[in-house]
Amino acid sequence: MREEESPETPWRPDGVTHPVAADTRPFAVDASSDPGLYELAPVALVCLDEPGCVLAANQATAHQLGRTVAYMCGRPFVTMVAQRDRRRLFSHLARVAGGEHCELDLTMEMVHGTELPVTLVSKPVFDRDGRFLCSSNAVLDVSRRQQAESTLRQAKERLDHIAHHDALTGLPNRYLFDDRLTRALARCRRHGWLGALVFVDIDRFKFFNDSYGHDVGDAVLIEAATRLAMSVREQDTVCRYSGDEFLVILENVTSRADVEAIVAKLRDEFARPLYGLTERPLQLTASFGATLFDKSVRDADAIIKQADMAMYEVKQDSRDGIGYFSRQLAAEGERRRLLEADLRIAASETSQLRLEFQPQVDARTRLACGCEALLRWDHPSQGLIQPGEFIGLAEHASLSGVLTRWVLREACLRARRWLDGGRDFGRVAVNVSPRDLAGSGLVESVDSALEASGLPPNRLEVEVTESSVMHHPLEARRALRELNARGVRIALDDFGTGYSSLRCLQDYCFDRIKIDRSFVAELGDGAGADAIVEAMVSMARSLGIEVVAEGVETPRQVRHLRRHGVNLMQGFLFSRPLADEAFAVFSSPGTAG
Ligand code: C2E
Ligand code: MG
Ligand code: MG
Repeated sequence: MREEESPETPWRPDGVTHPVAADTRPFAVDASSDPGLYELAPVALVCLDEPGCVLAANQATAHQLGRTVAYMCGRPFVTMVAQRDRRRLFSHLARVAGGEHCELDLTMEMVHGTELPVTLVSKPVFDRDGRFLCSSNAVLDVSRRQQAESTLRQAKERLDHIAHHDALTGLPNRYLFDDRLTRALARCRRHGWLGALVFVDIDRFKFFNDSYGHDVGDAVLIEAATRLAMSVREQDTVCRYSGDEFLVILENVTSRADVEAIVAKLRDEFARPLYGLTERPLQLTASFGATLFDKSVRDADAIIKQADMAMYEVKQDSRDGIGYFSRQLAAEGERRRLLEADLRIAASETSQLRLEFQPQVDARTRLACGCEALLRWDHPSQGLIQPGEFIGLAEHASLSGVLTRWVLREACLRARRWLDGGRDFGRVAVNVSPRDLAGSGLVESVDSALEASGLPPNRLEVEVTESSVMHHPLEARRALRELNARGVRIALDDFGTGYSSLRCLQDYCFDRIKIDRSFVAELGDGAGADAIVEAMVSMARSLGIEVVAEGVETPRQVRHLRRHGVNLMQGFLFSRPLADEAFAVFSSPGTAG
């Protein structure tokens, strides 16, 4: 039988009928009240005597608490309250008996043990002599309000999470990271700890995205995030800083060796093949740049820059490596920064720029069959700066497009002048940067240079490197096809230093490959360069592609190359890069070689 159905008289612990409860209708103690009003009130009302027993309760109370009025009357109200709140109820009732009007949040225990959060609003009732008679209480159901508050709290937490986390990987985002780094630096200062910040940039991420689509790109980012997060300790922070860049804060490390061990582990984790996304496993690698900080460091931005600088060095170098920030690196970074600013001026004024032309020679006739335009920068205070130093800077500063436009125009104008002067120079080759291939401006720059100079398109050759093609495969294919359709020749520079795949040769309509000088330098020393060159030549020949050897410095190299069937050569043996006029003489029939 359910307890509320019990026909018993009002409950007393000692079995004695409560003197008031026995003859009390709801709220009969309040002489001025109309009992009907209490009965009909949609609010749960309950009247308690000084010890806290129920004197009267209306139907709304019974309904709300899932009990009958008969069950409640005479029972201590506390028995209907959750155990944990009982003590608080007693002190609340004592305050009311003392004359206070007060409220209490508590949890009612309903039939079958379910709970109901309520607010008890209590008011004391006194007789004419000022003696406490009972407390009059409204039992307000606050479950809906609490539910609404909890939903609101959850929504706020969710919004907060979204604002501070990256939607794709779930890692802390840049904003949360800034806060975490500032706190980490503060903790380092307080405890005298050593910490480290590691900048991680996925290698060739654009290649994954472009070649396999954005779904695979996203999956690569998620996997990268997971690998990083799984490889660090709980107190460390991994965040997605932007695009394919992640930052890791290592806190409370004991030594540089400690940091090196953790970063090495991160790198090893990263290098595990990634199965299941594409037909063949993907090889993920990243460039890691790390910097250490101690209690003396306050500037979070400076720390990020240091880690970025260290990472940039690795990227420039060979990628897939670890670099550490040092004072020397900072000095180089500063020099680069200043040089970059100067390069910006040079690129806009162009008076500091000039071209040299290195002949390409047919070793059988020793006559020039073409030339390569090589950019030179005459820095106002530092003198001649070689492209090896500033081309990378130009890429970094997004200046390569401007430079390429200038080089193309200048080379085409010169070549047109040689033609007009009756000198058959073959064709002029211009190097383009990876960024030129990625952007949309290359074809336009070529068109405008050809138009301004009136040079026939088949007199112009564009040199691209394998890595730049592989970094931007789709854009490269489109740009190179368009150039090819105009009759412009395409050469693959530094062949053998990158991916050197047959597929790449086949896909990109190359007219020429240029065997990198590192192979030429090793010809004849038995280290395998001969076999490699032979393979390159047969690969190119089978696809109808011409071969040029770069960096030829000795007659012995010429002999080896000719034995392998390579006749077109470029190198100091024939000529160093020359100024315009000198090349014009070189290229004139009868004077070559
Ligand atoms: P690259 O396109 O492979 O150009 C050949 C480089 O090898 C030139 O260096 C040339 O001077 C050097 N070289 C030629 N023959 C020999 C030789 O027999 N021995 C040795 N040791 N070196 C030889 P340079 O002019 O310093 O250019 C370096 C690189 O800078 C070029 O390599 C090219 O990638 C880049 N570059 C040059 N000019 C431009 C340009 O206008 N635009 C872009 N994007 N890159 C350029
Ligand atoms: Mg070149
Ligand atoms: Mg080259």
